[in-house]
Amino acid sequence: MNAHARPPLLEVRDLVREYTLPRRGLFEKAPVLTALAGVSLTLARGESLGIVGESGCGKSTLARCVMALERPQGGRVLIEGRDVFALSRRDLRAARKGFQAIFQDPYGSLDPRHTVSRIVAEPIRSLEPEVDAAARARRIHEALDAVGLPRAAAERYPHEFSGGQRQRIAIARALVTRPALIVADEPVSALDVSVQAQVLNLMMDLQEEFGLAYLFISHDLSVVRCITDRVCVMQAGRIVEEGSTEAVLTAPRHDYTKSLLDAVPGSGRRRARAGEPREQETPS
Ligand code: ADP
Ligand code: MG
Repeated sequence: MNAHARPPLLEVRDLVREYTLPRRGLFEKAPVLTALAGVSLTLARGESLGIVGESGCGKSTLARCVMALERPQGGRVLIEGRDVFALSRRDLRAARKGFQAIFQDPYGSLDPRHTVSRIVAEPIRSLEPEVDAAARARRIHEALDAVGLPRAAAERYPHEFSGGQRQRIAIARALVTRPALIVADEPVSALDVSVQAQVLNLMMDLQEEFGLAYLFISHDLSVVRCITDRVCVMQAGRIVEEGSTEAVLTAPRHDYTKSLLDAVPGSGRRRARAGEPREQETPS
């Protein structure tokens, strides 16, 4: 690599995450479950990388380690070449503005006691305490505009919105610090198919508008096919196949990928936009 080349936005090297489970008996050793058995990947600015694999293969563990919410026993997570687990708390807070997350459950991840405005502002409050109230209000409005919610939504509460709209609130919260990377762990898995397409289209539009990179995790191949450029297939804590989404999903080389594909009928990339259903989300 050229000495002046910029490091990739995200680089994960040989990540190992083990969980020690409760001992089964007084004289038995505590069993160790290896959730990540040496995972490596890179993600460039503006790129969308999918992680697919069946439930329990380690996708969410990978997301938590990348977000520095959990410390791995081995390996490194480098954001713009900097090891997130080697940063001071202050430097980690500064770096955290650049990477945000969206999770599957738009109900559980939004505090029902807080207004949308407070929820969306939370990353600014915790990561950019120097931002004053007027600037914060402006950024909340910009984030709501970006996800297609009315500004009046700011004073309402999560329960007043539909599932798709709640996920838009979670996306607004992720956008508010203007990140370069969004880690999305099953972001549309809890939504109806028609609403899934709308949220995926929004995420594709936001990627273009803000040059976002996504680490997009899903057990659903049709979802990954529609929104990612490249894909890593995970099985039991390892990446068993990697390549362009089109290549991997049309001509898989690994038996495990073939078995995942056999479980669902195939479809074309960006199919969600082309086949977007006409019905609109209705608030609950
Ligand atoms: P996925 O998101 O692909 O469904 P996870 O990353 O949630 O997979 O889990 C990978 C494996 O690690 C599973 O066997 C799961 O039971 C285990 N696991 C995840 N989190 C914990 C934890 N906090 N304690 C013990 N085991 C865990
Ligand atoms: Mg998971």
